[in-house]
Amino acid sequence: MEQIAQMLPEHTKDSLAKLLSDRLKAIESMTPEELEAKRRRVAQARVDSFNSKPGQLATGYTNSDNNYVPGDGYNCQLCMNRGATLVLEERNGYIYERMVECKCMDVRRSIWRMKASGLEQSIRDYTFKRFEAKEPWQKAMFDMAKAYLAEGAKDGKWLYFGGQPGCGKTHLCTAVAGKLLYEEPVMYVIWPQISKKLKAIVNDAEEYDKEITKLETIAVLYIDDLFKPVKDDKGNITQASGPDKKLAFELLNYRYINRLPTIISSEWGLEELNDMDEATGSRVAERSRGYNMMVCRDRKRNYRLSDTTAV
Ligand SMILES: [Zn+2]
Repeated sequence: MEQIAQMLPEHTKDSLAKLLSDRLKAIESMTPEELEAKRRRVAQARVDSFNSKPGQLATGYTNSDNNYVPGDGYNCQLCMNRGATLVLEERNGYIYERMVECKCMDVRRSIWRMKASGLEQSIRDYTFKRFEAKEPWQKAMFDMAKAYLAEGAKDGKWLYFGGQPGCGKTHLCTAVAGKLLYEEPVMYVIWPQISKKLKAIVNDAEEYDKEITKLETIAVLYIDDLFKPVKDDKGNITQASGPDKKLAFELLNYRYINRLPTIISSEWGLEELNDMDEATGSRVAERSRGYNMMVCRDRKRNYRLSDTTAV
C-alpha cells in the first residue's frame, strides 16, 4: 500500500487522503440507525443491479472454461433467463442477500435432459401439427394423445400406445412429452437401453438405487419401446426376460402407487403385456384406462403364438 502511495503524485495523494478522511468522518458521525439504513441501501442496490441484467440461459454463452454452452431456447419473464433472482432477507435484524432459484430451472433441466436424451430433434419433428391423421385410426390416436395432454396427465393417468413401429406411436408420445416438459420435468428413456444399464449395476445397491429412483420419482416418465421384442437364433420373437419383467414391475409399481404420469409405447398390446406379466400388465391397464390403444396390428404377426410366427 505504501509503495502504491509513493508512486502517486503529491497532489493526488493529498486529495485521496482528504477524501478518505472525509468519508471516515461521515461514517463516524452516523448513528447506528443511519449506518444500518446505508447498509440496506447498498445491499438493495446490489440486488436491483443483479435482477435488472438479463441472463443467457436461453441464448447460450461461453463459460469460464471458454466452452460454449448452447442456449435452451426457453424464455422466462421472471428471471430474464438468469435462472435465479437475488433477494434481500432479514434474520435476527441482519440483512443479507440470498440467491433464489427461478421456477424456470425445472423446465430448463427438463429441456437439458431431453437434449441429453437425444429427443431434442424429435420434439421439433414430432409435433401434433405435423402428425398426419388421414385414417380414422390415426385420428383416434391423435384425439387420445390430445385428451391425455388436456386431462389424463393432470390426473396422474398413463398413456399407452401399443403396435408395430412406424404407426406414429413414438410421434404422438413425443408430442405429448414435448408439451408436458414445459410444465414439469420429463424424462425420456428407451427401454432396451435403460434396462441394460440398470441390470448392469444391479449388484451395486447404491448406484442402482440412485438410477432407479430418478426414473421412479420424475414427474413424467416416457418409456419408449417397453419390452421391445427380440428374435432368438431361430428368428422367433421372444418375450421379455425375467430380470426385465422384475425391473419393469419395480419401476412401474412405484409410479402406479404414487400416481405419477407415465407415457409408454410398446410393440405389445395390453393383453399381451398382461399375458407376459400380470402384475405389471394389470397396473398399466388400470392407470391407462381411457388412454390406451393398440394400433396398426399386422394380422400376419401374432406374438401370442411366437413359436409359429413368420416374420
Ligand atoms: Zn426464470
